[in-house]
Amino acid sequence: MQMKLENVFGAEKQRPYIIAGPCSAETEAQVLAIAHELKEQDIDLYRAGIWKPRTKPGSFEGVGALGLKWLRRVKEETGLKVTTEVANRVHVDECLYHDIDVLWIGARTTVNPFSVQEIADALKGVDIPVMVKNPINADLALWIGGIERLYKAGITKIAAIHRGFSSFGETNYRNAPTWQIPIELKRQFPDLTIINDNSHICGRRDILKEIAQVAMDLNFDGIMTEVHNDPDNAWSDAAQQITPKVFHELVQSLVIRESQDLDIKHSDLSSIRSKIDVLDDELLRILSDRMKLSEEIGKYKKAHNISILQPGRWNEIIEKSEQKAKKTNLSLSFVSELFRAVHQESINHQEEILSKND
Ligand code: PEP
Ligand code: MN
Repeated sequence: MQMKLENVFGAEKQRPYIIAGPCSAETEAQVLAIAHELKEQDIDLYRAGIWKPRTKPGSFEGVGALGLKWLRRVKEETGLKVTTEVANRVHVDECLYHDIDVLWIGARTTVNPFSVQEIADALKGVDIPVMVKNPINADLALWIGGIERLYKAGITKIAAIHRGFSSFGETNYRNAPTWQIPIELKRQFPDLTIINDNSHICGRRDILKEIAQVAMDLNFDGIMTEVHNDPDNAWSDAAQQITPKVFHELVQSLVIRESQDLDIKHSDLSSIRSKIDVLDDELLRILSDRMKLSEEIGKYKKAHNISILQPGRWNEIIEKSEQKAKKTNLSLSFVSELFRAVHQESINHQEEILSKND
């Protein structure tokens, strides 16, 4: 779908747009204290969750509509624009009634088309900016679908928030950034504002800066970070929140590099890029040759009635790839992901041979 989108922040400015505030509104004093400190930093939008989608029951699930009055006071006292998460029609109606400036749809809501449609229907005829977080699963089509539902309801001020994708098992991140997904989103919708929510990607405060810098280097338009006046005692997401002072240092440290297409200004880069293009072609040719060999093996397996997956051989490939990674400047995770993808493609080719009637 073609979309003609407008700026969510009401004014064009140099990157980055800054959204900051606590994970949850806890008390009126807390919401106001943080807002006053952030006001000094000239942020673009103040965030605070009122209805909190928590993984387990019994966690703090937000103060509810009462918190909207506190956000209204933030507006009156600081002049900051405010945003909160909505997950259904009642939330939307409450927010509109309390003059919330911008709404956001959380990751657990974007996964559900019924909920997103309910929100979109509640917003028909209303001119309010909406930010759509990526769904918790790595599904770009679902993320785009959510954005399109709002657009079809007449919302044109839309931004996307990249907050990472959940996965099973221990990882370095609370939610894996899987940068290719927002990059592809931006490729398809160049006018869409994309904000990086480093807090929910990291889940811990020590790597927030690193992730925000990657986002800037990938031309994201801004960041959304959870900021709290007493992070360790926050009622939700304590490990990932930082004080306004630490946040200020983070923002000041960001290096903002040029985002325009480099070929025009830096012609010396184009020769390096040509070499990369040649190597990329070469990579594809090699992979295609490799698949031809897999197909030969497929034919052999078919003739001898052997199943495609040979666990012993697969283990050998995975183990060898770990040793191979050590000898290169490539990370282990990249090398094993690459081999898994190659293996999957190889299975697909062999499957096609085995399923063909001769
Ligand atoms: C939040 O921003 O506080 C939140 C609940 O985030 P997410 O929807 O990304 O989990
Ligand atoms: Mn949070």
